[in-house]
Amino acid sequence: MKIISISGLTDERFIRPLEHIGNLFFEDTKVVFERKEEGLHIDFKVESDEKTFTVSGQVEGESPFICTKNITELTEKEYFRQIKNAISQSYLMVLENHTGMIQKWGILTGIRPTKLLHRHIQNNVPAEEAHQALKDEYLISDEKIALMQKIIARQLTVIPDLYDLKKEVSIYIGIPFCPTKCAYCTFPAYAINGRQGSVTSFLGGLHYEMNQIGEWLKKNNIRITTVYYGGGTPTSITAEEMDMLYEQMHASFPDVDEIRELTVEAGRPDTITPEKLAVLNKWKIDRISINPQSYTQETLKAIGRHHTVEETIDKYHLARKHGMNNINMDLIIGLPGEGIKEFQHTLDHTEALMPESLTVHTLSFKRASEMTRNRAKYKVAERSEVESMMHMAEKWTKDFGYVPYYLYRQKNILGNLENVGYSKPNKESIYNIMMMEELQTVIGIGCGASSKFIHPVTGKITQFSNPKDPKTYNESFEEYTNRKIALLNEHFLSEEVK
Ligand code: SF4
Repeated sequence: MKIISISGLTDERFIRPLEHIGNLFFEDTKVVFERKEEGLHIDFKVESDEKTFTVSGQVEGESPFICTKNITELTEKEYFRQIKNAISQSYLMVLENHTGMIQKWGILTGIRPTKLLHRHIQNNVPAEEAHQALKDEYLISDEKIALMQKIIARQLTVIPDLYDLKKEVSIYIGIPFCPTKCAYCTFPAYAINGRQGSVTSFLGGLHYEMNQIGEWLKKNNIRITTVYYGGGTPTSITAEEMDMLYEQMHASFPDVDEIRELTVEAGRPDTITPEKLAVLNKWKIDRISINPQSYTQETLKAIGRHHTVEETIDKYHLARKHGMNNINMDLIIGLPGEGIKEFQHTLDHTEALMPESLTVHTLSFKRASEMTRNRAKYKVAERSEVESMMHMAEKWTKDFGYVPYYLYRQKNILGNLENVGYSKPNKESIYNIMMMEELQTVIGIGCGASSKFIHPVTGKITQFSNPKDPKTYNESFEEYTNRKIALLNEHFLSEEVK
């Protein structure tokens, strides 16, 4: 843990934001408002008059970094926001100077940067003005602003009615089983072997939820934009169980043939069989994800993915043979033991397959994962190498005609970088865009599925999560379904919305 002791500030509401920014530079920071011998000490000097607020931060013996904000005619809330922003900016610059690390996302620690730009567009702010506002407020680099702009332009090309889709919903269906548990995983994923009883009860609950939610949508004339089966690995269940599930979807949901996109994560290649592909075909499921993560066998073993590189390649070809023409593949930059050489090897293999879309993740150490609990066991690349791999991905995708179409960031992500979804034009996942930009309600059904209700008028977000483990889910799915229906009533049927 890195202690950062600060003098010159007393308002404890600054502690959390300063810790978040500190974590961009050091593994785990603790900010205290008293001088300590250990760690790093930063001295802030604050001056204000009626018109301006100026803050200067400095590490002893190093240059001061000053930020000034105009504070005329602000509400109390806005005034606090401005001084927090000034302190954060000065603090960021002090830490950049002290460590030599440059944060391309500036002080932005949120996970959905593109949402900020969407907000400006919806308020009819011209692009250049919006870009400048993001730079002024968050110190985001030109490189990342250009990436956001490119992504937004693509999203609006793929979904011209993006801002009108708040009248519809998308559905996420969580199936919490996998063949084995991967070391970096914090998803609700339970090794499926020996759990058939639990799987059967779970599917019973899931069919019930689909039925009830589907009835509500039909009754209230609300259309579905996309459906996404995730988890876990939704192809861990048997071909017969999959068949019954999609039959239930058709019986329950309104106008399934008009849904813009149906996706099934077939993430683990070891779950894909000709029988399951035939079922996907039968129900016209047009997008699947097969996730290699890496094409280096030792890496797959080290992270607990019990499948082989050959299996990924074979299953990819098998899926193609069965008519799958929209395949996504996930890659992860910075897996343990991997550097530029291994990542190039992964890109070379990808070149031989050419999936329609490619999601490039940067490894993040999520608090609850096995990898984080035993972090010393997993050696990962240095920040500069992670950044070089990210640039390799950018170049490779550009060279082969892929366009970035969504991005998100995570806490504790290597190099404070981002995850980017690339796609061949017109093969973008609409669900990913809807989910990331939070412009539409997503109803989560099944284990660990979280719902996000977006108020069609105010845009306010209400989150609601189903239980993560199958046992609790099996005992309470009726109650959870009723609570979601109550939230749907509130969001779609209130006087204000009508
Ligand atoms: S396959 Fe995916 S969901 Fe399953 S354990 Fe691995 S990372 Fe988690």
